Amino acid sequence: MENAGKKSSGLFGWYFNTNLLVRILIALVVGALAGIIFQEKIVWVQPLGQIFIRLLFMIMVPVIFSTLVVGAASVSPKQLGKVGVRVMLIYVLTSFVAVGTGLLAGGIFKPRVDLKGIADFGEYAGKASEAPPLSQTFLNIIPTNIVDFVARQQLLGIIFFTICFGTAIAMLRETGNERTKNAAETVFNFFDGCAEIIIKMVKGIMEYAPIGVFALIAHVFATAGARVVGGLAMVVVTSFSAYLFYIVVWYLLICVKMIGGLSIGRFVMGAKEAFITGFVTRSSAASLPVTMQCAEKMGLPRDVYSFAIPLGANINMDGTAIYQGAAVMFMTYSVWGQGLTASQMVIVLIMSTLATIGTAGVPGGGALMLLMVLTQLGLPVEAGTAAAAAYAMILGIDALLDMGRTGINVVGDLVYLSVLTKRMGTLDMAKWR
Ligand code: ASP
Repeated sequence: MENAGKKSSGLFGWYFNTNLLVRILIALVVGALAGIIFQEKIVWVQPLGQIFIRLLFMIMVPVIFSTLVVGAASVSPKQLGKVGVRVMLIYVLTSFVAVGTGLLAGGIFKPRVDLKGIADFGEYAGKASEAPPLSQTFLNIIPTNIVDFVARQQLLGIIFFTICFGTAIAMLRETGNERTKNAAETVFNFFDGCAEIIIKMVKGIMEYAPIGVFALIAHVFATAGARVVGGLAMVVVTSFSAYLFYIVVWYLLICVKMIGGLSIGRFVMGAKEAFITGFVTRSSAASLPVTMQCAEKMGLPRDVYSFAIPLGANINMDGTAIYQGAAVMFMTYSVWGQGLTASQMVIVLIMSTLATIGTAGVPGGGALMLLMVLTQLGLPVEAGTAAAAAYAMILGIDALLDMGRTGINVVGDLVYLSVLTKRMGTLDMAKWR
């Protein structure tokens, strides 16, 4: 971060003069230890974490709106459409690899709990109906009332409106009529200024990140840490092994290095803050401002990342896909006592991919959509059933699983966009040296 020139001393001075990543990593470790040691005595720090999340949400819609208007207005609509289709295809097709990784890890580790003698878990029964139908997810892309969509932070609708708005500016900027051309230019410059100001605000918010990270992690470890025992520990091992494998082998070695021909070290340096923000906030949506900032730093063209990153925060959720694969295996081993047949695996591959598209980028969004996959698989979570008991258990440790999967969700957008723009020749390679 920009620390040069600041010369205060003491704790305050140390705080602002130390590299941001170092501060965040210290906060992560100290937060986890504090949560494990002090348990419920430390949960009072939760509001400090909420401040961080609220600040990120505060800036989220303005970030999307300003950068996306500028992005869409800077390219010809034809070019935008061409890149958009590629980005969508990459986001959707790679989900299959992610679900497959989760299923594979589940097959290797075989996580399960013994459900004999477990009482009624009726309180979770109603949850299945809460998952929205997929058709509604698609219809929700078109807002009926843009102000309402902004107020409720419905990202896909906001993206749709903003792309239309930016594209109209792009078209007007190319017309021969001086008056409309000037008007479009003025609006473009206005949003360009807004985008710069908001990116500056994001940098300011990140100065608070270490405190937020400490509080968020302490709270998760204080509340969920103790529940990780027995069979559930195996679910954590399964999921995190799959996450790690996916990051190292798929993202770094195959995508970044082999397909993109990019430096792994440079990629990690560029994307680390986005990963950590996803990890601790457990929300792709909240991480958006930081992901955008990383994209800028990594030299991704603004006209691509301005729409592809908000879109990715909604539909590109490889971490959630991995989790769904692993969680389904846990459910079937626990309830049926066996894994999946080949045809059931195909159902899971397709349904989990669709489910990740419909998953909201908020904490626990993926656990909710898991219900849809389980229902399609013939394992509905209904009151008093073994499925409800197993689901309740996995939900108890969801905060832990969610940290890993959201980190992956967030970093995945940066992986695919770096590789795509490198191959298209639009990545600013000066930033990779
Ligand atoms: N928390 C995840 C995200 O925001 C979604 C999930 O729960 O899987 O990306």
